[in-house]
Amino acid sequence: MSEFNLIAKYFTRNTKHTDLSVGDDAALIRVAQGQQLAISADMLVAGTHFFHDAPAYNIGWKSLAVNVSDMAAMGALPKWATLAIALPEVNETWLAEFCKGFFACAQAFDIDLIGGDTTKGPLTLSIQIMGEVPTGKAIQRSGAQIGDDIWVSGLIGSAALGLSHLQGKIALTEPTLSYCINVLNAPTPRVALGLALRGVANSCIDISDGLTADLSHILKASNLGAKLTLENINCDDYLRTHLNDSNIQQCILAGGDDYELLFTAPKLQRDCIHQLSSQLQLPLSLIGETTPQLDLIITHCQKILNITKKGFDHFG
Ligand code: ADP
Ligand code: MG
Repeated sequence: MSEFNLIAKYFTRNTKHTDLSVGDDAALIRVAQGQQLAISADMLVAGTHFFHDAPAYNIGWKSLAVNVSDMAAMGALPKWATLAIALPEVNETWLAEFCKGFFACAQAFDIDLIGGDTTKGPLTLSIQIMGEVPTGKAIQRSGAQIGDDIWVSGLIGSAALGLSHLQGKIALTEPTLSYCINVLNAPTPRVALGLALRGVANSCIDISDGLTADLSHILKASNLGAKLTLENINCDDYLRTHLNDSNIQQCILAGGDDYELLFTAPKLQRDCIHQLSSQLQLPLSLIGETTPQLDLIITHCQKILNITKKGFDHFG
């Protein structure tokens, strides 16, 4: 199959928010008046971000989902994506499954695939995502204020626990096993939450590298420190019952890949955030507060934890 037949067969779909899509030298989009274009890119490399034999459907879903998550973290509405893909060979079974997963995610969040590039090489997916946010309303990492509450969505540590199982470091049983593997393979980006947090949260980030590492990005950008309480971080029952185990603490505090949102908000937004949680049927837990002292202090049962590893770092 030629490169161009491959693009026509697998990557050319109907689009909804686009003037010109796949097939020309560039796509054409129009950003609505009063909106800023939010742009982000994320690359996934076989063997680094997923196992070579990971199901193609999951690779398709996750490669787009992690990009969508960056839009959520900004309070932006994702609309357009490009896909640059390097394939070691044309394996049509793999491609069909990959596209099923990719376009399932695109459809779930109403995103147009508007272009990209297709080459031969070690399996790599590089996606650029674009979305809209009303001018001046994006939620930035640098916006946290002294005394802000620190919140996190969903359950934290599940993806890292699933990864530990796949790496043979731990042996999970059902139902924890399926739940954690599903979070690892098919994370749900929190777009509705991100949009609702405009004007509510002072700062926001998505948890890709690990809660502590990602919180540190907010703190550094905002020139603040924080106090966190481990037992207030919502997590799966398995993690909760092993909360004294330092490996489990590490899953929660430093395990990445959950793609939940971590945000800070003024204390007077508490009622509003609890309401949001029930509206969205998504747990939002209050896990600490920001401080003028620059250090990050994490306690468990009133004792200070000594954290050595904050999160994943490709070159760390
Ligand atoms: P050019 O040589 O002008 O860069 P290409 O031959 O690389 O164009 O691509 C032809 C068309 O197909 C372009 O519109 C490009 O955006 C699109 N395209 C190529 N690869 C992909 C892909 N993996 N996903 C979506 N669109 C793609
Ligand atoms: Mg060209």
